[in-house]
Amino acid sequence: MSSPIIYWFRQDLRTSDLPGLLAAAATGRPVIACYILDEHSAGEHAPGGASRWWLHHSLEALAAELAQLGGALVLRRGAAPLELDRLIAETGADAVYCSRLYEPWANTLEEKLHAALDARGLSFRRYPGSLLFEPGTVMNQSGGPFKVFTPFWRHCRAGSPPATPRPRPADCVWFDGTLDGDSLASWGLLPTQPDWAQGWSSQWRPGSAGAYDRLQLFLAGPVEDYSEGRNHPARAATSRLSAHLHFGEISPRAVWHAAVGLAAREARSEQQVDKFLSEMGWREFSHHLLYHFPHIETQPFKPQFREFPWLGNEAALRAWQQGQTGYPIVDAGMRELWHTGYMHNRIRMVVASFLTKHLLVHWRAGAQWFWDTLVDADLANNSCGWQWVAGSGADASPYFRIFNPVTQGEKFDAQGSYVREWVPELALLPDRYLNRPWEAPPAVLEKAGVRLGENYPSPLVDHKAARESALAAYAAIRDADQRGNAPA
Ligand SMILES: Cc1cc2nc3c(=O)[nH]c(=O)nc-3n(C[C@H](O)[C@H](O)[C@H](O)COP(=O)(O)OP(=O)(O)OC[C@H]3O[C@@H](n4cnc5c(N)ncnc54)[C@H](O)[C@@H]3O)c2cc1C
Repeated sequence: MSSPIIYWFRQDLRTSDLPGLLAAAATGRPVIACYILDEHSAGEHAPGGASRWWLHHSLEALAAELAQLGGALVLRRGAAPLELDRLIAETGADAVYCSRLYEPWANTLEEKLHAALDARGLSFRRYPGSLLFEPGTVMNQSGGPFKVFTPFWRHCRAGSPPATPRPRPADCVWFDGTLDGDSLASWGLLPTQPDWAQGWSSQWRPGSAGAYDRLQLFLAGPVEDYSEGRNHPARAATSRLSAHLHFGEISPRAVWHAAVGLAAREARSEQQVDKFLSEMGWREFSHHLLYHFPHIETQPFKPQFREFPWLGNEAALRAWQQGQTGYPIVDAGMRELWHTGYMHNRIRMVVASFLTKHLLVHWRAGAQWFWDTLVDADLANNSCGWQWVAGSGADASPYFRIFNPVTQGEKFDAQGSYVREWVPELALLPDRYLNRPWEAPPAVLEKAGVRLGENYPSPLVDHKAARESALAAYAAIRDADQRGNAPA
């Protein structure tokens, strides 16, 4: 009997369009499907609280998908190299296949594993599958990585489109020996005391089936309003695929081809689909950047920002985390995040700008909070998103673009439905004061039941003064920034 192959699931929790699993199945050898919860190798990149919730349900869904195909998912907890060694010893497997990850810590782990298995004559094969375009294959004319999004994406779009997605392996021979595995429940991924994820199952459906449903739902309607609608947090105009994509429950090329197929059938959707694909392009750009510049998860992309005079204001950070800054649109976003594990992209930009510019708190503190609270927490997208807003990233928003939380609220939540949903203590305020309750006359506040400083905070900082402090802080590093700011 030929030796089995271990298929090591990671951030690719699906069975469709999974090149590594298809390759393992195509050998005709028995395949062992395993997932290893490796908090040791991931270190501080181990999933945060909200991601652990998602992971639990996603693994449950994957196990069911594998069972439909006649397979079983073995769960192990520990350092991946040790757990893979144990499985090899228990089964006589002589090969490990997986999807490649591009985060620096994951890449280091893969290289170590490769060297260790190779030295013992065992094979370790990594397959693409998490991105549309492989890092290292999208390079500028001088052979270097792109540092600006527009030419990066133009280059991607000008080349061959991503290959069409492939089906599940229908004829996989699964390993039929008995293997010990952990029970999912024993990992304690779900919150208990308190269960802050109550109600999440009614709005999220982790797993491939949920991902495909979400995609179909988006392409059946909301995509038609994507370019404009995506700016408005109260409109359901975006796909909400981010966590599904992060956990690899759907391949980005399945999303790409479904969207392009719609544009081909319905000419009116073409522009909207293009805009949607360009947001998928930002996901690619962020992953390519992190691959080529691994320091950007902790260090500013623009080195001159190393000297930025951040303030370490713990109380301000806590008020921001709890949605108690006194700026309704910021507080609405932070509460949406806490209650749902998600925050709309426009509001992510507003709250990130508020933390880094109004409060002068280091972007890493914000990124760490997002890491723990977002169901879609993703090292590349999160690091790049924060650095983009903070002004220190590649192709970042210019530093002096300081979002005004009042006008952002008034422009993008003009009817106030988003703020009223998440900051109910302000629900009865008239629209004109909803984003600036401190300007409301006492009688208006009283009628709406708002007592500033009691049942809703007074603003933590004054917008104008905070803006001036932020610009003064930037002035300290500006000359160096402008010298080093030329696009490449
Ligand atoms: C400060 C900050 C932090 C962020 N942290 C994360 C994070 O940890 N994980 C994450 O997936 N996204 C992050 N984003 C990007 C973006 O906000 C989310 O991807 C998006 O809101 C997810 O909603 P959606 O799936 O409905 O997006 P859609 O608008 O439907 O976009 C489709 C897909 O494209 C990708 N995408 C969209 N916008 C971006 C973007 N700006 N950068 C990179 N990829 C993008 C996502 O995979 C998304 O699912 C962050 C943005 C900011 C400003």
